[in-house]
Amino acid sequence: MSSPSTHLMELPRKILIGDNVICQLGSFIMDLDGKASKIAIITGNNVKAKVEKVFRSSVFESLQYSWYIVDDASMDSVNKIHTKFRDYIPDFVIGLGGGRSVDVAKMTAFKLNKPFISVPTSASHDGISSPFVSIRGTDKPHSVKVNTPIGVLADTQLLSEAPLRLLASGCGDLVAKLTAVKDWELARDEKNEYFGTYAANLAYMSAKIILEGSDKLLHKKKEFGIRTIVEALISAGVAACIAGSSRPCSGAEHLFSHALEYTVGQNCGLHGERVGLGTIMMAKLHGLDWERIVKTLKNVGAPTKAKQIKINEDQVVRSLLTAQSLRPDRYTILSKLKLDRRSALELAKSVCIV
Ligand code: ZN
Repeated sequence: MSSPSTHLMELPRKILIGDNVICQLGSFIMDLDGKASKIAIITGNNVKAKVEKVFRSSVFESLQYSWYIVDDASMDSVNKIHTKFRDYIPDFVIGLGGGRSVDVAKMTAFKLNKPFISVPTSASHDGISSPFVSIRGTDKPHSVKVNTPIGVLADTQLLSEAPLRLLASGCGDLVAKLTAVKDWELARDEKNEYFGTYAANLAYMSAKIILEGSDKLLHKKKEFGIRTIVEALISAGVAACIAGSSRPCSGAEHLFSHALEYTVGQNCGLHGERVGLGTIMMAKLHGLDWERIVKTLKNVGAPTKAKQIKINEDQVVRSLLTAQSLRPDRYTILSKLKLDRRSALELAKSVCIV
């Protein structure tokens, strides 16, 4: 593959982060478009119950809004919501909640060709600021590119109320940048693929900050942990915007995670948990210090063994063997090494099977 001479960088225009910034959502929207009159909020039932009152007091009277509740992160949910927009075309679509609400809202905004605002209530993955969505029912077994959020509003108070497991999952999605960047370097060196040094460094830095600070994250959850993790996730998403692809954020460890979902179904942990496990194995294949990654994930309370996300040896091996076939065009360490059953089993046993 030859290097492209041009690519488009679409970045978020406004990012607001801090305690209780949800109260400023109304002015945040009007700052983005002073003529906005209708918005659609896509969220989950629990989040709606929690923030409805504060949201109502934050928006101006001139702004009409409607709530849409998401069941799951699938194209069915997107299509169901989309059909409700025949008579109500919003100026903005807001994704308010966890990964599911943010992904469904991002895809809905893309289908409507309307700007999207991301308001995450959990710091569990880097999709909060990137143009990529992981949604079931598209024609791709991996994340797909839509539009970059025009705004990101991250309320650290709300984020700190999310279960610690979600935050640990966010750390899994961050350490993944170590192997994603390594895979990208490999594709540059062996396939002459375009490589953006700046985007790669930015993604790498968001992993490094977790590697270096993981022992403090548990003890200072709110002050240090939330802010650090959410800023790192936003920054990783921006790295993907700059690269014009998910390359700096997603390599073989993400393919492994997608393959697990494919083989096991829904019940195999959170995105960042699967990806964290994949990172340990891909780091070993790359000759990186995988034991440091294990220590980092343990420090933040993320799983480091397959059984912790209820998957067995055979499922890990099958996912290792099928991962690359889900995206043959993305050259990774798995394309290079072409594991067979014996080497996949050896790898799994040596790092993530007790
Ligand atoms: Zn991810």
